[in-house]
Amino acid sequence: MTGGAGFLGSHLCERLLSDGYDVVCLDNFSTGTPANVAHLMEHEGFRLIRADVTDFIHVSGPVDAVLHFASPASPIDYLKLPIETLKVGSIGTLHALGLAREKHARFVLASTSEAYGDPQVHPQPETYWGHVNPVGPRGVYDEAKRYAEALTMAYRRTHDVDTGIVRIFNTHGTRMRADDGRAIPAFIGQALAHQPVTVAGDGSQTRSIQHVDDLVEGVMRMMRSDHSGPINIGTPHEVSVLALAEAVVRLCDSRSEIVFIERPVDDPSVRQPDITLAKSVLGWEPSVPFEHGLASTIEWFRHRQETPHL
Ligand code: NAD
Repeated sequence: MTGGAGFLGSHLCERLLSDGYDVVCLDNFSTGTPANVAHLMEHEGFRLIRADVTDFIHVSGPVDAVLHFASPASPIDYLKLPIETLKVGSIGTLHALGLAREKHARFVLASTSEAYGDPQVHPQPETYWGHVNPVGPRGVYDEAKRYAEALTMAYRRTHDVDTGIVRIFNTHGTRMRADDGRAIPAFIGQALAHQPVTVAGDGSQTRSIQHVDDLVEGVMRMMRSDHSGPINIGTPHEVSVLALAEAVVRLCDSRSEIVFIERPVDDPSVRQPDITLAKSVLGWEPSVPFEHGLASTIEWFRHRQETPHL
């Protein structure tokens, strides 16, 4: 598991261990932290290795699957780490694919809905090629992932590696960083502190944000399938950013008011996955109800605020 000490990676490590797999977690802790997997350190099947996957990847012994999740993922992170983001999507993916090839392992690439850019087709099916600005600031992430997808398909076609690509849509849950700039942690932090909740633009842009438990189930199914993908993993439940902010304020019992701030460059206007393929190929669809998932993420942030040493 590359990027296993990150938000999604740590949940996947947990699930893999509970399903009986041994896990080697490779992470350079650039945007993740060992604290995310500290509770797994006692597990005899778990090994945490500090490694930058753009240097090299070595894992001794047999490997059944390589899950390549290492990459800065939130806009704040990849705008701060533009070259690292391009390197981990290109060189890091090359090394992770090399490991899968050497070990005859299933390879799963964590790609992203950002591969669709600011989409002109809605909802987005996997057959849509996207609308990405390669030279805008977000291009470092979008194009890194698009390149990673192309490289993954080249390894499948040229070296017969058993590869699969998941295009992950926005996900929320425990262990998100409060300061990662994504809408949900930002809104929750502001609402719990009863500070103004800052909505970009007029808030009419939409997002479809799934709960991490659903994402983990989708990735596990992709790992166990032999489908090449890309397959969208996300919820079709689409909400405007303003409605999301209002739901957070309500579920936090907050006195915060909502204020409007400038929208970031190339911020997508709409985002909703077409999950027909995931349903038919993986038998997967999200099952955590929106407000239920949101309430559990809020509870975690509330608890962290009250007991920050945890
Ligand atoms: P995250 O930042 O919490 O996790 C990424 C992890 O990768 C971190 O632990 C970081 O330290 C590690 N990492 C980065 N560069 C590395 C390198 N060169 N070598 C080793 N480790 C490195 O982000 P996340 O939200 O957990 O995202 C995980 C993956 O899922 C990313 O590839 C991301 O692009 C993808 N994804 C996430 C979302 C989402 O909503 N969270 C949506 C779409 C795609």
